[in-house]
Amino acid sequence: MCGIVGYTGYREAYPVIIKGLKRLEYRGYDSSGVALLNTGLKVYKKKGKVAELEEDVIGKDLHGHIGIGHTRWATHGEPSDRNAHPHLSNSGNLAMIHNGIIENYVPIKNDLLKKGYSFKSDTDTEVLLNFIEDIQQNNNCGLEEALRIALKRIVGAYCILLISKDDPETIIAARKGSPLVIGIGKGEHFLASDASPIIEYTKEVVYVNDYEIAIIRPDELILKNLGNEKQTPFIQKLDLELAAIEKGGYSHFMLKEIHEQSETIHDCLRGRLLPEVGKIMMGGIENHIDALKNAPRILIVACGTSWHAGLLAEYMIEELCRIPVEVEYASEFRYRNPVIHKGDVIIAISQSGETADTLVALESAKEKGAFIFGVVNVVGSSIARLSHAGAYTHAGPEIGVASTKAFTGQITVLTMMALKIGFAKGTITNERYLQLMNDLNAVPEKVAVILKNTSNIERIAEKYKDAHDFLFLGRGYNFPIALEGALKLKEISYIHAEGYPAAEMKHGPIALVDENLPVVFVATKDSYYEKIVSNVQEIKARKGKVIAVATENDTVIPSMADDVMFVPDADEIIAPLLSVIPLQLLSYFVGIAKGYDVDKPRNLAKSVTVE
Ligand code: GLU
Repeated sequence: MCGIVGYTGYREAYPVIIKGLKRLEYRGYDSSGVALLNTGLKVYKKKGKVAELEEDVIGKDLHGHIGIGHTRWATHGEPSDRNAHPHLSNSGNLAMIHNGIIENYVPIKNDLLKKGYSFKSDTDTEVLLNFIEDIQQNNNCGLEEALRIALKRIVGAYCILLISKDDPETIIAARKGSPLVIGIGKGEHFLASDASPIIEYTKEVVYVNDYEIAIIRPDELILKNLGNEKQTPFIQKLDLELAAIEKGGYSHFMLKEIHEQSETIHDCLRGRLLPEVGKIMMGGIENHIDALKNAPRILIVACGTSWHAGLLAEYMIEELCRIPVEVEYASEFRYRNPVIHKGDVIIAISQSGETADTLVALESAKEKGAFIFGVVNVVGSSIARLSHAGAYTHAGPEIGVASTKAFTGQITVLTMMALKIGFAKGTITNERYLQLMNDLNAVPEKVAVILKNTSNIERIAEKYKDAHDFLFLGRGYNFPIALEGALKLKEISYIHAEGYPAAEMKHGPIALVDENLPVVFVATKDSYYEKIVSNVQEIKARKGKVIAVATENDTVIPSMADDVMFVPDADEIIAPLLSVIPLQLLSYFVGIAKGYDVDKPRNLAKSVTVE
């Protein structure tokens, strides 16, 4: 987490940095700060969102053509002014910002304390900074050399930007595990955690790799590895438009992104799903079809909402491809010494492509000979680069912290994958293959129908907004959607919510049911329909309030439910792409009704680059 921005060039650095920090605020908003260099080194920082920093610096000296800025998601030390980045070294000579965690900071801090260093914050970052300064002073060497030595001795993840009073044109950057993009302009350079702060200035970028150090001046970019050997920067063209990262008339990014889904799913299908010729074109799969269709098993590794997409993929792949699938939480998988055989296929799902737990899990699986297939949204991200093959979700930049369009993008890609592999393997009939392709092709239009009129969902949100708990229930393909509905509500409205398989409810959660508990049933017409009708009866018999996601023209579920959100009819494998939409809207409207900042829910951050 944490967003970092840097600038060196002919412009005033402050406006470039502040604007960039606002674009990166989805990465954390516990505090923000800037350091600017001109005749001296000035640091301004403030607890809270970037807007609070902006207010705080009114009237202060903001002049400088080089600077670094940070928006924080706290890991070490509470959110506060003093723990905010940038940090200053003891001599006051160096300023640094950091995204990541220095795991062995305690012994280093103890050593530095013995040497007489003092610390103004509780962060691991300030320890690394003074460690670098100490090495510089002891070895009487330049900053770059001191940094190299320090990085070889620390354990953890970092992207850091450093500036020094002694070298007022240069930013020194380094990364391992946390992302860094450098934008190349004429006589200027931009640095950021992702490309969004950079696109309005230049489309030429370099993605810095792990264990690389960059020395950046207005006219010069030098990349080196930790062995001090020069690396050739690989310059890429950004395929991102400014409009895609702005709100476009919507009150919130979350609402905009929910409404974009008809289009983003269409973008994801475009050029890939060709039902008229019975083909799915996905280079990442075609080039590795043998590895995929002959996989003895598939492991899906993900976190949060992506994990729910993974669960859905398990159901699809097992049904359509007859390959055993396990879905793993990346944070557990990486530490529990899993059994991985050569030939196992790992599907990694991540919106940002930077999720720290997923990334490390993949690195070790790759070493053990697994084939890694990445399903990510952010082009050029770490997971995309680490994977042997993959498919982008093409959902465009997702700024709202709670994932919506990236989730439906993931499901769309995973459905095409299951269909393509199943067809190649011969585990799905031609007829079913074509029928599912046609159903998938019709999804963008059906999503548009759901989004046309959302006032009923807004009314339902208003009615239940004061509930203390919610239960979300579903069976089969709708079970992962029940989990996702509960997660979304928790994230956005801070209401406790649990997702459960509808039948499992009888083994515990039913004890919670009374006249105050809203129970959301994802109850579209599928092969479990009769069963879920019984589950609804069971809740009604205990006076629970039933809110149902039901198929248009269904009369049975609506006759039992207190409130209904309708979705168009679709095959049960495709239906989750529709039934999740009302649940996204429900959590959005509840969050708004409660007066919360739905784009930046408390304690969360979008790109979870720490463990
Ligand atoms: N560990 C640093 C801090 O707590 C950076 C946190 C992060 O990147 O999430 O300030």
